[in-house]
Amino acid sequence: MLSNSGNPSQTAAPPEVRTCRLDQGIVAIDTDYMRPLLDASHLIIENGRAAFVDTGVNDSVPLLLAALRQQDLDVADVDYVFVTHVHLDHAGGAGLLMQHLPHASAVLHPRAAPHMLDPQKLIRGTQAVYGEQQFYELYGEIVPIAEDRVIVVEDEQRFTLAGRELHCLFTEGHARHHYCLSDPQSAGVFTGDSFGISYREFDTAAGEFIYPTTTPVQFDPPEAHKAIDRIMAQQPGQLYLTHYSRVGDLPRLADDLHRRIDDFVDIARRHEHDDDRTAAMQRSMFSYFEKHLTAHGVTSDQSGLHAMLDIDIGLNTMGLEYWLEHGRQ
Ligand SMILES: [Zn+2]
Repeated sequence: MLSNSGNPSQTAAPPEVRTCRLDQGIVAIDTDYMRPLLDASHLIIENGRAAFVDTGVNDSVPLLLAALRQQDLDVADVDYVFVTHVHLDHAGGAGLLMQHLPHASAVLHPRAAPHMLDPQKLIRGTQAVYGEQQFYELYGEIVPIAEDRVIVVEDEQRFTLAGRELHCLFTEGHARHHYCLSDPQSAGVFTGDSFGISYREFDTAAGEFIYPTTTPVQFDPPEAHKAIDRIMAQQPGQLYLTHYSRVGDLPRLADDLHRRIDDFVDIARRHEHDDDRTAAMQRSMFSYFEKHLTAHGVTSDQSGLHAMLDIDIGLNTMGLEYWLEHGRQ
């Protein structure tokens, strides 16, 4: 980090942003949430106009703005901020980002919009998961979005970005306020958390490794299966996941996801009445990952796997326990 003490003419260095330019005007931006290559925002660029899909957290905003500059775009060139759902690794920076984008509208699911207009309930809910202190370290102050800058979207609503058609698909299962954004031009869908998590560090000769995210408090297994089927019904050639970016080989990944939703539900059921249920479910899930990642050709040792997976194992376990207690029909 450069110091600019004693030199008033020196300005702060622009933040270093890690981007990956995909085809069809799509750029993956690393929001730098928690660790590199964990949380992506995507920029769709068409004829000088742009849209973000998911925003990372407040600390990500300077990176997103740097990514715009890197692509020779101005803040006034952004028409839309699509927020797939209001879990804060996707939406935490949306309000702050909107303050920088004079012409953009935030596109929100009808169940998500109230939480971005008035984030107090969202903040309390997230603090219940992370605790108050960690909440502020991870997310800071959540900035509301003014009502006149919000488009409350309907299922299958279409948008055009400089003539490029994009449309929303409501997908429950991960959260009831989730939508995906279909982009026929790239034969792609921006899936938020509805098509699971696939970290690039787990890519091997066998391809990509994928698993579901069962984050609290609205995990719903039948709906999670339906969401995968709805995404695949678009006949996509590629998907853009928030965690982390582009995946192909979709029929295999869809099968893996379907099976792993059932496997995670089985883990929850198996340990439902254990005295140390949380720890037992976490151990089972870690063993599950270790077995399947090893079979996939990942060579990390146990501590490497813990470093990669413990956050997700904690959240998945919490979401499965919530489902056992509240969500199961
Ligand atoms: Zn989520």
